[in-house]
Amino acid sequence: MHPIYLDHNATTPLAPEVLAAMDPFLRGQFGNPLTAHRFGAAPKAAVEQARLDVLSLLGPHAADVFDVVFDSGGTEALNHAIKGLAFRALVGGRAGTRRRIVIGALEHYAVAGSARWLAERFGFDVVEVAPGRDGVVPVDAFAEALDPSTTLCASLMWANNEIGSVQPVREVGRLCREQGVPFIVDTVQCPGKIDLSSAPDVADVFAFSAHKLYGPKGVGAIVVRKGLALDALVHGASQETGRRGGTHNVASIVGFAAAARMAVEGLAHEAPRLAKLRDQLWAAIDPKIEHAHWNGRGAPLLPNTLNVSFDGCPSHALAEEMDRRGVAISQGAACRSGAITPSHTLAAMGLSENRSTTSVRVSLGHATTAQDVHDAADAFAESVRAIRASR
Ligand code: PLP
Repeated sequence: MHPIYLDHNATTPLAPEVLAAMDPFLRGQFGNPLTAHRFGAAPKAAVEQARLDVLSLLGPHAADVFDVVFDSGGTEALNHAIKGLAFRALVGGRAGTRRRIVIGALEHYAVAGSARWLAERFGFDVVEVAPGRDGVVPVDAFAEALDPSTTLCASLMWANNEIGSVQPVREVGRLCREQGVPFIVDTVQCPGKIDLSSAPDVADVFAFSAHKLYGPKGVGAIVVRKGLALDALVHGASQETGRRGGTHNVASIVGFAAAARMAVEGLAHEAPRLAKLRDQLWAAIDPKIEHAHWNGRGAPLLPNTLNVSFDGCPSHALAEEMDRRGVAISQGAACRSGAITPSHTLAAMGLSENRSTTSVRVSLGHATTAQDVHDAADAFAESVRAIRASR
């Protein structure tokens, strides 16, 4: 059996079309876009076109509403969003009246870590709104946490990376807009999987990372509503109109743009294909393996993501057994691989420690076939049997 990669929420392989788009900028077109001579012209034009391509992820009219700031990826974008707003709100070096930061309790560490650091360092208040057992943050609970007179900003991911639950960002966005609270949405896991074209009516800031959509690693963007002021985190020359210094990573930005175009063009075909394969995988696992649980089932989910727990099978042991059988899956979020701590997402959902320490994430992608899903289900059955027999 060839190795089967089912960890696309951790990262995706570079698409050949993306590599082809990058190629000229890794060779002849090496100029700095900031330079006025002929060598800078094509790279500059490519970066400007890339902005439009990235914005097309957020619908056909996004360029009228938002600016793009290229950066190193999702983590930087989310740090920039939260810290960029917070730094502007400091009064005498401390949090002022607008001190509350409201976030979902299943946000990526880039959001939660930034918010908690701001609380520790500058005295901001962080309110984390717990999801229900389905992994969806209730709108009412978020509404209760928003206090228009003291809230600096709110942040809720459009879709969760671990269980794939899609959050009620439209409803929360409406509340934020009514209350004048800037709303940050982590869209890192969404391109090519769910439609983001309502974005102009949803939020003020979005975060993207090229390596989640078959683009290169180390490049991404923060998309900011025109007129919303954020302090820069990376000071330098005048790149990105002073919002993020540093010479543009032109080839990677061009690759990101190519990946964004592919995500937009492929969505209508790829999302239902992935959902069908995901459902086939569960349909194959469920009758084969006793005491298997699909975490987040029933919630609106990313089409490619299946988070499952198997009683008696610790996440790391199962991921290892699967790897031995040639199937790569994640024991919870990839950034924590190696650590045997319960998934913070499943814990926030109120699932038992037993359930959250036995969960694994399967995330399908472009290359996944029905045969892969069939083979993965067999590998699950064998792996679970082996682990249960050894305990
Ligand atoms: N947000 C989500 C939902 C993610 O899944 C990730 C990566 O796992 C990030 C943010 C961070 O993105 P990057 O890897 O580009 O720093």
